[in-house]
Amino acid sequence: MTQTFKGTALITGASSGIGAIYAERLAQRGYDLVLVARNRDRLNTLASRLTTDTQRNVEVFQADLANPQDLARVEQKLRDDASISLLVNNAGIGTHTGVLDSDVERMAELITLNVTALTRLTYAAIPGFVARKQGAVINISSIVSLAPELLNGVYGGSKAYVTAFSQSLHKELSTQGIQVQAVLPGATATDFWAIGGLPVENLDPGIVMSAHDLVDGALQDFDHGVLISIPSMHDLQHYERYEAGRQALFSHLSSNRLAPRYSVE
Ligand code: NAP
Repeated sequence: MTQTFKGTALITGASSGIGAIYAERLAQRGYDLVLVARNRDRLNTLASRLTTDTQRNVEVFQADLANPQDLARVEQKLRDDASISLLVNNAGIGTHTGVLDSDVERMAELITLNVTALTRLTYAAIPGFVARKQGAVINISSIVSLAPELLNGVYGGSKAYVTAFSQSLHKELSTQGIQVQAVLPGATATDFWAIGGLPVENLDPGIVMSAHDLVDGALQDFDHGVLISIPSMHDLQHYERYEAGRQALFSHLSSNRLAPRYSVE
């Protein structure tokens, strides 16, 4: 398939699941790739398949994004490589366990990966995008960013951060030619569930989407400039009503007077 060169996409968590499908689809769309994850063997296997299938240039960049030195190397790559036109912040971990059953060190690691690494990589990429007046950031959030009660609260909170950060980035950067998208997958059939302690086979198959469908839907939304992409939501009016209600709050949130429902001497 011949495609116009779109620049380079740097994808975190590209060794499996949703990130590996992004790698495949973006190579097919004409992007060169930088594939970031810890598992070098899986990255190499994917890179050679995609190079053969698409003739795109695919670079493997092994890094543990929870490790500050490794993260700094990826940040430097984003600053130095002016061909990078798309950052896909996809690497993430999760769990379903409650607060009493969760190891706080694991929760801290989750925040480091899902929040800190995503933030630092975005900050590294954005100045170059703005200077070149071109670039895009796709942040993989989750439907639990809207419903933190459904899984572990630290995971839901980390994804609420990703959605909120994306909304704010969009407001700041959309006038400067930079596209931002937050993708909110529902349950998706990947290793994510087994790694988090609940293999996907335990879920109702009626709520589990394939990673292919998820990425194809999200990329169609990306093509249409959709900021919040929820490929598993059939009737989008549910989200649109929620979003309209959220935006209607803005002018009511701050005041110099205590609300009259309080009685203060
Ligand atoms: P996955 O198959 O487990 O993929 C996670 C990816 O992140 C892997 O490539 C993994 O590669 C990488 N990763 C994990 N820890 C890392 C670290 N410390 N440094 C660098 N890379 C790391 O799961 P997935 O479902 O595709 O998850 C992708 C994203 O989708 C995550 O942000 C997740 O929160 C989100 N999501 C998933 C679902 C779902 O139901 N699956 C739903 C909503 C949102 P290595 O092990 O090689 O490092």
